[in-house]
Order: sequence, then C-alpha cells, then structure tokens
Amino acid sequence: MTARTHDLIAFAALTTTAVYYHPQNINLYTLFASVIGCTVGSLIPDADQAGNRLWDLLPGGDFVSRILRRVFYKHRTITHSLLGTYLLFKGLEWVLPKIFNSGFVDPKILLISIMIGFVSHLFADSLTEEGVPLLFPIGINFGFPPIKSWRIKTGKWFENLVIMPGVVLYLVWLIGNYKDPLLKLLKSVN
Ligand SMILES: [Zn+2]
Repeated sequence: MTARTHDLIAFAALTTTAVYYHPQNINLYTLFASVIGCTVGSLIPDADQAGNRLWDLLPGGDFVSRILRRVFYKHRTITHSLLGTYLLFKGLEWVLPKIFNSGFVDPKILLISIMIGFVSHLFADSLTEEGVPLLFPIGINFGFPPIKSWRIKTGKWFENLVIMPGVVLYLVWLIGNYKDPLLKLLKSVN
C-alpha cells in the first residue's frame, strides 16, 4: 500500500481507539505527539524501501536509505513481522521516556499511538497480494483473504478508489456516531 493509504488507515485506527479507550486527561503536546507518532509509526515498516517518506523527512535521508536498502535488501522482512513489532515496542518503551519529559509529553500514550500506526500498517499490507511475513525469519507470507488473487494490488484502482474513500467514509461515520466520547476527549485536553 502507498504511504498515503497507510497514513489514513493509521489515523482511522487511532481515532477508533480514542473512542473506546481514552486517558482521563491528556495535554495538548501529548495529543499532537500521538497523532504525529501514529503517522510515523505507520511509515516505519516501509522504512526499508528507498524513497520512503520517513527517510525524506530526515537530513541525508536518501543516503541513509541507500545504505539500509543494502541491509534490508528484500522489501517486507523483519519490519513486517511479529518479531519486528516486539523489538520496536521494547526499543520505544526504553527510549521514549528518556527523550520526553513525562510532564510534557506522556511517553506511554505516545508509545501506544506509534504502535497503533505500526500495527495498522501490517494489517493493511496483509490485504495486499504480497501479504506479510509475520513469522519472519520463517518465510511464510500471510494475507487476508487467504487466496492471493482476491487480495489488493498496491497503488492500483482498488486501493485508490475503494480502500481510501472507504476509510474516509468510515471516519465520517465514526466521528458522527461517537461525537460524545471524542468531544469529551478533546475537552479534557489541558
Ligand atoms: Zn509495508
């Protein structure tokens, strides 16, 4: 899937989570950090691809991505696996409280938001023909539906004309139907 679709699906996943589980109070910095963190999280799995937007955001990103491409030559390996999910979680759990002052940005909410973006990416990619190697280094690719030819071709009409508008419609429906919890969350921002 393209980065744009991943962004959108990640945002929908974050909003869905906010409807059901939301913290008692959240400050404005944490709210922003969690929306940005979720987007970054949704781009991390494809950081193994050159020209990825995540690398474009970094100075010298093109150079770094060229080196990393040698390391992760094949697209969709550890970054699209349960092992990768676990390592990212553990790494962020360790590093985020060291970067952010918890009085400023809540590292736990940020961690959860990044992971929501990341996991939503793996879920979205599982709908594509290539599937995802969840059990990497075991080289079996998983996808839904299980029959490969029923799945989506990345960047083609189905993704752009069905998936993207479908996610937008879902967001409109979600916000319309769950106005109260979402407004409550926004009002609790301090
Ligand atoms: Zn991917």
